[in-house]
Amino acid sequence: MPSAPAPKPPHPAPAPAPAPESGPRRAMRRLGLETDVDLALHLPLRYEDETRLTPIAQARDGDLVQIEGTVLDARVEQRSRPQLVVRLGDGEGKSDLVLRFLHFYPSHRKAFAPGERVRVRGEVRGGFFGREMVHPTFKVVRADTPLPQTLTPVYPSSAQLPQAYLRKAIASALQFARLDEVLPPALVPAGWPSLRQALLTLHHPPADATAAALADGSHPAWQRLKFEELLAQQLAQQLAREERAALRAPRLAAPPRAKARPAGASLHDRLLATLPFHLTAAQQRVAHEIAADMATERPMHRLLQGDVGCGKTVVAALAAAIAIDAGWQCALMAPTEILAEQHLRKLVQWLEPLGVQVAWLTGSRRGKARERMRALVASGEAALVVGTQAVIQEGVQFARLGLGIVDEQHRFGVAQRLALRRKLGEGAQADAARGAPALEPHLLMMTATPIPRTLAMTYFADLDLSTIDELPPGRSPIVTKLFAQPRRDDVIARIGDEIALGRQAYWVCPLIDESTSADDSADTEPAPRAGAADLRNVIATHRELSEAFPGHAVGLLHGRLRAAEKAAVMSAFASGATSVLVATTVIEVGVDVPNASLMVVEHAERFGLAQLHQLRGRIGRGSVASVCVLLYGSPLSELGKARLKAMSQTQDGFEIARLDLQIRGPGEIIGTRQSGDALLRFADLDEDGDLLRQARHAAGELLAHDRPAALKHLQRWLRGRLDFAKA
Ligand code: ADP
Ligand code: MG
Repeated sequence: MPSAPAPKPPHPAPAPAPAPESGPRRAMRRLGLETDVDLALHLPLRYEDETRLTPIAQARDGDLVQIEGTVLDARVEQRSRPQLVVRLGDGEGKSDLVLRFLHFYPSHRKAFAPGERVRVRGEVRGGFFGREMVHPTFKVVRADTPLPQTLTPVYPSSAQLPQAYLRKAIASALQFARLDEVLPPALVPAGWPSLRQALLTLHHPPADATAAALADGSHPAWQRLKFEELLAQQLAQQLAREERAALRAPRLAAPPRAKARPAGASLHDRLLATLPFHLTAAQQRVAHEIAADMATERPMHRLLQGDVGCGKTVVAALAAAIAIDAGWQCALMAPTEILAEQHLRKLVQWLEPLGVQVAWLTGSRRGKARERMRALVASGEAALVVGTQAVIQEGVQFARLGLGIVDEQHRFGVAQRLALRRKLGEGAQADAARGAPALEPHLLMMTATPIPRTLAMTYFADLDLSTIDELPPGRSPIVTKLFAQPRRDDVIARIGDEIALGRQAYWVCPLIDESTSADDSADTEPAPRAGAADLRNVIATHRELSEAFPGHAVGLLHGRLRAAEKAAVMSAFASGATSVLVATTVIEVGVDVPNASLMVVEHAERFGLAQLHQLRGRIGRGSVASVCVLLYGSPLSELGKARLKAMSQTQDGFEIARLDLQIRGPGEIIGTRQSGDALLRFADLDEDGDLLRQARHAAGELLAHDRPAALKHLQRWLRGRLDFAKA
């Protein structure tokens, strides 16, 4: 490319130029395009073929073509508003082409002076008065102005950022960006272009047959780019793993029985003995995996995944018991107050009778109560601390934190996960200051939104996985049915049948963000904020159902009720005093009523898949067959249809997570949404498994044999995002 003065934009700007450069510049920054490398990695959405000219006579109605010709005449016609009408001839046939501009500027008049030669591109319409183009793009040329040799890129952009400006900026960045090869030749598969060459091809592909290969990603230029990206991911993960391997945690092994506790059993064993059920085989297996981790001085970093209702809480309680047996504290953190409260209830019920003191920390707890709790935590009297993010807030100091447990970790934003790790590490520094060796706590994360294997390997190479793949015995299957809103009355009648048999039903309305109280701002589902209209809807539905079933009590539950009111409503439903519970998503967690056999979810299309799955997990807990009705408002988008269909087809949380991944993409699931930047922009985990394996291997090689190259590669790809890779 000649480094001549910057080329003129292909056509004049459509509006008077704004204050010099600031508009587009700012727009570029907003798109995250700050450095030359950023720009070089900003790839076209599609291409336009400006390498060919079509004679006017051959242009068919509806064709998108480029035509070159001489301006025969140009005039302003007075319609409802003035229009610029230009007639163009190409001398090759008798036909000519009319260009019509409904908005125009003096620059248009100048470009279309009779006798000027112009190149125009647009869609041809075979109008009544002959062939016409409305608002074509255009460029004044000379008879010898060459046609471009390559396709013209069309970039993702914004209203404040004209394509012409962006093209120019990217073309120049491609020249100046530091894209020198950092990988040793042995790691780059033969036949692949260099990174710079790959990017040049992707931005300005030759107008030959490459177009199809470029579109489906099989072109070597794409392969190279995706490989580079996956390599950066893998390097970040392997480095994080190395870093962690250098850290030390307390060994939390249950003390040898007979000697340490002549009285008999450890807390762990006494808990096991007093549970009202036997652990499933899967629970036993994961409990062993966790115990084995905690018994080493390498900090545990384990994700426990298992479907809704599979019994993760008791596994967490057993882990906590091991930590407490060893003389350390355990903190359990949940993303919302309701979820935290559910844990609190279970853990208190199981552990307090065994002599464990439990502290409760949430955002709504303030003043004296909070100070008292914090004091219990700081003194170490509270062996177990349960709460929301308040657990890791400023001012909370643990005496001896040995184990951190995070429930529904995917609902914490990336930034919060990082904060958690830092907070848990604070104790370590305090110990170091006292001259004791710095110890990190063990970390156990739990999720009911299982992470597909490939995703786990890509994003969480630094995480060990345990999976509970079996539900406790005695659960019955759930049938899920889809109904469009107009059939609401049929659905209500169905509830009537069910409660006539003495069973109970839930009616769930969307009011999605309410469970997140003001300073309990964990990022939950990607849902719109609850509005007053939603609240009115819950209340109206409650009235409607109360009138429909005069012989039965209908309860109403939503997040704006006071805690005591909520508790009263819940216990009325649990005891069977109310037959129907109209509720918002507050029942997503914490309700366990085996006699409830029917659930209706209104506006199901407004819920996330994982959330629907959680909700549905409230039924099917007894011995009768259960039905979940997803009531949707129409028209339903393609996406909405796909999601609801997925829900009706499977009850398997893993399958739902896989579908969710397909439908929404990985960034959504692992919560990188908050970082404003999905970690993988080019590679696709479903399609690029081979590349992923190659990248994993290459990352290992590079770290072992050429660390400087590894760091250089990471720097280029992740810049400020290194931390996010570790969260
Ligand atoms: P989740 O994995 O969704 O957090 P929970 O831990 O809340 O599930 O467990 C769901 C219900 O199953 C709870 O009432 C719990 O006490 C019960 N439960 C857990 N494990 C077993 C088991 N092995 N046998 C019978 N019930 C169990
Ligand atoms: Mg749970």
